[in-house]
Amino acid sequence: MTANADSPAYPLRAFDVEVRRIKDVGPHFRRITFCGDALDRFGVPGPTRDLRIKLLIPAAGQPLARLGGPNGQLSRGWYQDWLKTEHSGRGFIRSYTVGAIRATAKGREIDVDFVIHRVPEGHGAPASEWAAAAEIGTAVIIIGPEASSITSATRLSETGIRWEPQGASQVLLAGDETAVPAISSILETLPANVGGHAFLEVPDPEDFRTISTESSVRVTWLARQPTHSPRGALLDAAIRRTVPKTVSSAAPGRDIYAWVAAEAATVKVLRRFLVHEAGLDPKRSEFRGYWSRGKAGSGINGEPLGQEPQVRQSNR
Ligand SMILES: Cc1cc2nc3c(=O)[nH]c(=O)nc-3n(C[C@H](O)[C@H](O)[C@H](O)COP(=O)(O)OP(=O)(O)OC[C@H]3O[C@@H](n4cnc5c(N)ncnc54)[C@H](O)[C@@H]3O)c2cc1C
Repeated sequence: MTANADSPAYPLRAFDVEVRRIKDVGPHFRRITFCGDALDRFGVPGPTRDLRIKLLIPAAGQPLARLGGPNGQLSRGWYQDWLKTEHSGRGFIRSYTVGAIRATAKGREIDVDFVIHRVPEGHGAPASEWAAAAEIGTAVIIIGPEASSITSATRLSETGIRWEPQGASQVLLAGDETAVPAISSILETLPANVGGHAFLEVPDPEDFRTISTESSVRVTWLARQPTHSPRGALLDAAIRRTVPKTVSSAAPGRDIYAWVAAEAATVKVLRRFLVHEAGLDPKRSEFRGYWSRGKAGSGINGEPLGQEPQVRQSNR
């Protein structure tokens, strides 16, 4: 594929992979390690940070659908086209984060940490259910960046990376359990001269994990159990306690970059506080709903649960 500064190649493609290892890393997280020859072509220059991939999950009882041209090539607009395909065997696409990528004697591997979550009775959660039932050798398709298609003209966001701190020396990271893989990866690559805070809200203290970082970012874990804290409330309270002091100490340059990802309603509340009350510059911030309560699909544009027949089918 060729690319030039005016029209960089589309960097995403579909990769055929299979499950190599499965490990539970806390009561609500299952780490699945994927392998496959195609992964030799997967990647971004530099650290993966919050690199998003998409998974094509087969519908229950259906074979894995195909995606992309020969070698899995995709072009801009593929996802919108896929959404328009109406057939029962289409499967489901959900977004996940690359937790780690490594080279081994048996080829490259990618770790993805799946939150195993519950859904209201009578509804399905194809990705969470797929991860809970996965076995060694189960095949799936990952949609992600192809290293050779990325040039200096490729926008980072097109590869799936949203973490762009623009040289900030102070960072604020906040997320729920779905953002733990992204926040962990980001912290692992932050240099020593970066400070700030990271807040991670998870269901249970046993979901806490050790994150190595050279930075001086202070990491605070928050658990909704055993006190049954409403989702997002601990994050909100911790940020309201900490951030006004951080912002005022950084004024007037506002050298703070904020990155927030969680359930959509939590992100909305945190954004309102951080931008409108604490005065963070929204242009130096990344706010992302990773999922929406009562909606099927990643991000903020999922289908209200009662309206996606395939989700209901997959639960049977
Ligand atoms: C850029 C990006 C990166 C992401 N990275 C990760 C990641 O690394 N690990 C990860 O686990 N998730 C991650 N997510 C979130 C994940 O895509 C969503 O949680 C997704 O909705 C799960 O799909 P599902 O098929 O299990 O459930 P869906 O079919 O989408 O939803 C079914 C029902 O479950 C609810 N639901 C969905 N997710 C959760 C949850 N986590 N907890 C409780 N209820 C939920 C929905 O509101 C709905 O009621 C990411 C999302 C984005 C946008």
